Amino acid sequence: MSYQFLFILGLSACLLSCTTQKMEFHKNKVISHRGAWKASPHPQNSLASLQEAIDLGCEGSEFDVWMTSDGIPVVNHDADHEGMMIEEVTYAQLLEKPLSNGEKISTAEDYIKYGMKQDKTKLIFEIKPSSVSKEKGIELAEKSVAIVKKLGAEKWIDYITFDYDIGLKVISLDPKANVAYLTGDKSPQELKDNGFFGFDYNIKKMRENPQWIKEAQKLNLTVNVWTVNKEEDMKWLLDQEVDFITTDEPEKLFSLIR
Ligand code: MG
Repeated sequence: MSYQFLFILGLSACLLSCTTQKMEFHKNKVISHRGAWKASPHPQNSLASLQEAIDLGCEGSEFDVWMTSDGIPVVNHDADHEGMMIEEVTYAQLLEKPLSNGEKISTAEDYIKYGMKQDKTKLIFEIKPSSVSKEKGIELAEKSVAIVKKLGAEKWIDYITFDYDIGLKVISLDPKANVAYLTGDKSPQELKDNGFFGFDYNIKKMRENPQWIKEAQKLNLTVNVWTVNKEEDMKWLLDQEVDFITTDEPEKLFSLIR
C-alpha cells in the first residue's frame, strides 16, 4: 500500500467522522412552549424567546405558524396579532405593529433560519389549522414543507398540528418528516398506521388515557405532552419515560431532571 493511498484513506475517514459528528441535538426531553418567555420575560414566539430556549439548553423550542392573506407563513400563537386577524391581512400590515420587545413579527422562514444558527435545540413547528377554510390549512402545510426543504432544515424540524389532514399532507410531502398529532382523539395504532412519528397530547388527555404511553412506546411512536407546568405532572411523565415534555416552565423541568 502506497503512502499516497494511506493518506487519502485517512483524509476520507476524517471527513466522514467530521460530517457524522455535526448534528448533536440535546437529549433531555425539555420542549419550551412558544420559546422560553416566562421566567425571563420575552414575547411568546419571538426570536428572543427562541434564543432563551437555546441558552437554557432545551431539546426543542415550539412555535406556532399561521398564513397571512398574501400567503406568508408567520410565527404567532393567536389567530390575531394586536387585533389584526393574521389570515385577513398582509405581512406588510402585520409589520406595522411590532412585538412588545420591538422585534418584528417573524416569518416562519426567518425564524427557522435563526434557529439553524445552532444545532443543539430542535424547532417544533406547529402548523395552525386555518380559520378561513380547510384548503388554506393544507396550503399552509405545503408552504411549510417547501420552506423547510428550501432551507435544508429537515434535521431541525419536528412538525405538530391539531389538524389530522395537515399532518397527513406533511407526511405525504416528506415521508421522512417527524409529525406528531395534537388533538388527542386518535389511538397510537391509528397514528402509527398513518405514518405519524408520535403524539403530542394534552396532559388532561394523558391522565385519562395513561395506557397510551405504553402502547405508543411498543409501537415506537414518540410521546410528547403539553402544556405541563405542574411539578407532579412532570414527575409522573418522567417516571413513564416519555420522550418529550412541553412546558412554559423549562427551568422547573430542568431542575427535576438534573
Ligand atoms: Mg403551539
